[in-house]
This record gives sequence, C-alpha cells and structure tokens, in this order.
Amino acid sequence: MTESASRKILAANWKMHGSKAMLGAYVARLKPVEAVELVLFPPVGYLGLAAELIGKMAPFVALGAQDTHERETGAFTGETSAAMIADLGGRYVIVGHSERRRYAHESDERIAEKAVAAFRAGLQPVVCVGETLEERTAGMAQTVVKRQLEAVAKALPSADYARLIVAYEPVWAIGTGRSATSAQVEEMHAFIRQARESALGSRTLSTVLYGGSVSENSAPGFFNLGSVDGALVGGAALDAERFVRIAELLRTAKC
Ligand code: PEP
Repeated sequence: MTESASRKILAANWKMHGSKAMLGAYVARLKPVEAVELVLFPPVGYLGLAAELIGKMAPFVALGAQDTHERETGAFTGETSAAMIADLGGRYVIVGHSERRRYAHESDERIAEKAVAAFRAGLQPVVCVGETLEERTAGMAQTVVKRQLEAVAKALPSADYARLIVAYEPVWAIGTGRSATSAQVEEMHAFIRQARESALGSRTLSTVLYGGSVSENSAPGFFNLGSVDGALVGGAALDAERFVRIAELLRTAKC
C-alpha cells in the first residue's frame, strides 16, 4: 500500500508582488504556528534573500518558487530550473497555476514534465488543478480536473505521484473574492482523492489544498471539511498578519 501522510499546509503565493523591503517587514511579522507548515512563494528573484531572512524560522516556514522550467539546464533565457530553486533555498514549487496555464499557455503535459523536474531536484511540487467558470457551467469541472491529474499521473512514477501535493483552485475563484462553496470543495476534493487512489491502485493520504479567494472569513468553512488539508492563498497572504491569522484558523480546524 502506498501511503504518505497528509499534513496541514498554508501557502502564500505572492505572484508578481513584493520588494526587498516588503519581504523584510513580512518575515519580521511571521510567527510559527503549531502543527501548520507555512510555505512562502515569493517571486523567484527574492528566494535567496527570503532564505537568509527566515533563518531560525526555517523548520516552521518553508520556501518555494511559483514555477520552474522542466529542463535541468540549457539555453532557456529567462527561465529557472528546479535545481536552481533548491540551490536558492526553496523546498517547494508550484506547477500548473492557472495564471501559467492561461498566460504562458502551459499544457497539461508540460506541467507534468515540470512536476517530474521538481522531484528530480528534490523539491516538493504543488500541482494546481481547476476548472474555468465556463467548464463548470457546462458540467465539465470533474472531467477537466481528471484530465489535468491524469497527465501528471502518466509522467510520474507512482511513488512520486502518491507524494504529490494537489491544490484545487477553481479558476473562477482566484483573485475574484468569490470562493467556491464548501459543498463544491468537498465534492471536488473527494473526487481528486478518489481519482488518485484509482490511478495508484492504493490508498493515499497525501495532501490536498484548496485555493481561491481564501480569507479569514472564508477559511473556517474550508478548513473544517475533512478533505481539506490547508490552502494556497494569494491576495490575503500578502499581509503577514492576515496570513498568520489564517494559519491559526487552520491549526484549530478539525481537518
Ligand atoms: C492563488 O494565487 O493561487 C490564489 C488562490 O489567489 P487568491 O487567494 O487571491 O484568490
């Protein structure tokens, strides 16, 4: 049986926001939150500085990059490899964020290659999956998420697929202030777990996060669902105090 423990994770996706000054002020306000792993995803250019600033908080606060290139090295101007992310102090990497799928036209297959590259470099990939509003309205939400997961399952050895962190991020809920309902999240998370178990042919306890307009107000509704292990937070995570407050809600939640 392939099992990997699920754990409570709260991740901050800064997207293309921040500065050296903001990073310094942010890290100074961060507090470790018992039993919750905080993961910061600043722009990759700030990763080395973030690693220095985090210093002694490293066991409680991990770092990651928002994307990686799938190749190890080469003539790919402007790109960053997974090994470079690790070299800068990153332990995680987001792959397949809907903004990458949309603006960089990343295919399911390319995203899967990025997940492979992440594991090869010793990073923990967080693969984002989720449907657009049109796809949900057309009753295609599960079909889309299944297709996105299957591409990754095909590319990864099963031991890595079992360890993959999945973030369910409905595209229509990202940065819109309109989060999914608890029922929609519960249903999709159950679907994701079941799709993974049938691909693996075994039980897996791996981590599934929700993302999409998570705030102090909406977080408890998700964190108290048994199927949600934490969240990937964008806008609300740009403020360290808000991020820590959401982490406290995760700590006390029953998930
Ligand atoms: C995200 O960037 O992954 C995200 C979920 O953003 P927001 O929380 O702002 O919707």
